Amino acid sequence: MKWKELVFGEVVSFCNNIGSRTFSLQDFIKAKLEIFINAKPDNKHVEAKIRQQLQFLRDENKVTFLDNSGHYTLRDIYLLDLEKEETKTLDLTKEEPEKREYIVETYVRRVKWAEQAKEILGDRCLYKECPNTFTKDDGTKYIEVHHIIPLCKGGEDGLWNLSVLCAHHHKMAHYGNERARRDIESFLLNEVKRRI
Ligand SMILES: [Zn+2]
Ligand SMILES: [Zn+2]
Repeated sequence: MKWKELVFGEVVSFCNNIGSRTFSLQDFIKAKLEIFINAKPDNKHVEAKIRQQLQFLRDENKVTFLDNSGHYTLRDIYLLDLEKEETKTLDLTKEEPEKREYIVETYVRRVKWAEQAKEILGDRCLYKECPNTFTKDDGTKYIEVHHIIPLCKGGEDGLWNLSVLCAHHHKMAHYGNERARRDIESFLLNEVKRRI
């Protein structure tokens, strides 16, 4: 197997294992070095090779570098096993693509990337300093996670395409008229870019 496919395959399996699309290179290498050494016994610079392959994968938009400290996010695959598990009880085949997006977003609450979005973007609606929220029994604020560009329209399942919205603006982002949808989309894309 070629290096690039090998690395990508191991990244997918690693993300499935840890249940998160975001991972650190350090953890990845710690968990997988043995596998690469066994697969490519002649290579004396396995770690450097892995880094290089991750750069190739980034150039192909399969992974993104989140920061300079070796954190990456896996893109390119629609749902991790965990996320599939979460949506298994929903019959998505009957839904329109747009509706399906919303259902996946709404139901897949426990998955880690949604948690990461809240950690990084906070628990306040990102739309124009909107104050809408309420406190839940566990003391946390209610907030919804939204794909700014829907997956069905080529949007990516990663932080750069996620935002947090109140229930009202989340509905508006999906069901408002075209002008309202465009307005909220471009506003959110800028807002998220500033924050991550
Ligand atoms: Zn949404
Ligand atoms: Zn709002």
